[in-house]
Amino acid sequence: MTDRPTYGFDTLQIHAGARPDPATGARQTPIYQSTAYVFRDADHAAALFNLQEVGFIYSRLTNPTVAVLQERIATLEGGVGAVCCSSGHAAQIMALFPLMGPGKNVVSSTRLYGGSVTQLSQSIKRFGWSARFVDTDDLDAVKAAVDNDTRAIFCESIANPGGYVTDIPALAEIADAAGIPLIVDNTSATPYLCRPIEMGATLVVHSTTKYLTGNGTVTGGCVVDSGQFDWSQNDKFPSMSQPEPAYHGLKFHETFGELGFTFHSIAIGLRDLGMTMNPQGAHYTLLGIETLSLRMERHIENAEIVANWLENDPRVDFVTYAGLPSSPYAERAKTLYPKGAGALFTFAVKGGYDACVKLVDSLELFSHVANLGDTRSLIIHSASTTHRQLTPEQQEAAGAAPNVVRVSIGIEDSDDIIADLDQALAKAAS
Ligand SMILES: *Cc1c(COP(=O)(O)O)cnc(C)c1O
Repeated sequence: MTDRPTYGFDTLQIHAGARPDPATGARQTPIYQSTAYVFRDADHAAALFNLQEVGFIYSRLTNPTVAVLQERIATLEGGVGAVCCSSGHAAQIMALFPLMGPGKNVVSSTRLYGGSVTQLSQSIKRFGWSARFVDTDDLDAVKAAVDNDTRAIFCESIANPGGYVTDIPALAEIADAAGIPLIVDNTSATPYLCRPIEMGATLVVHSTTKYLTGNGTVTGGCVVDSGQFDWSQNDKFPSMSQPEPAYHGLKFHETFGELGFTFHSIAIGLRDLGMTMNPQGAHYTLLGIETLSLRMERHIENAEIVANWLENDPRVDFVTYAGLPSSPYAERAKTLYPKGAGALFTFAVKGGYDACVKLVDSLELFSHVANLGDTRSLIIHSASTTHRQLTPEQQEAAGAAPNVVRVSIGIEDSDDIIADLDQALAKAAS
């Protein structure tokens, strides 16, 4: 199907990138479970390796099933290209890889998925990269943190563990003035609720493990490029603007224009880092993404009902959900994310750490897992699990204090979700 921009979201989530299989007419995208693809002749092989012709060589780089998913997500996000990877964390490294180098830094929001805080504060140091964490509500602090060695600003749209929505247009303006890209992790919001590129982001990263797949079957990630960043406006991005020594001196921005970043991510990122999505994984995500908007609508409807109920329960200290009128981010959420503030939030249980542990152990419908964005309702006590590696100060800044649990509200009957919370809160309070 031609990707007419006039198609609506519900249509594109089913059709974008897909066409009946040319060999068999298969309507659903086949799983192309093949490592390699036969070259027509030696000239064809040479043209593919020179990037003079686009085609399939080897599935570490590209695969026809994965390619459909890449086009699907790029279309839903309003980007020009996308590269899928083995996980959300792989996608974050893949996004930073062409931009960074030894001595370079990324300015990052403090409000991130716990694993992302660890990746950025600890593991990237091994590459000689570093991260500077700032409260993204303090725009002066963001500006002050950006220096000549900063190569990107990084944030989440609706931040995990919930309750915080980022002012993406404000951060995009700061990144723009500094001549660097804004990278937005859009995992919790999905392109149904938020399209960061329309708000000025250059790159969007996803853990497709979560809502995009939606059913808790596979891990995956994706980097979407807006195609709108001028990589040659300064000398900060030699991998894009200068002859790239890892690809016999090719200049990616000059050669591929708005697709320069995407080509670099395949030709160098996937080629040399090898964090590839497999075609089975892409298949499950393609099945899930077909119903993204329907699921998100129910997720939000349920999240609003449950958050309201919890806020009025005397066993609960507070609920941080940007979809509640009491949230300090309610106005921002309404303006920037008018379809809803997601289905991920935290609440504080009277009785602190011990009551949280008892609550989690007493729930029957909820699953106690380190995941989110499943059709099932999920809960986790962040301080004793996902955010365990963080200092108490980092836990607090990330919204994962010891008296707080994080819920990912599923698409079950909201009455059943509430009944389960009710009985478990009773046990936690006793
Ligand atoms: C889960 C998650 C990640 C990491 O993704 P994986 O697929 O688990 O590697 C990154 N960011 C956010 C917001 C997440 O929820």
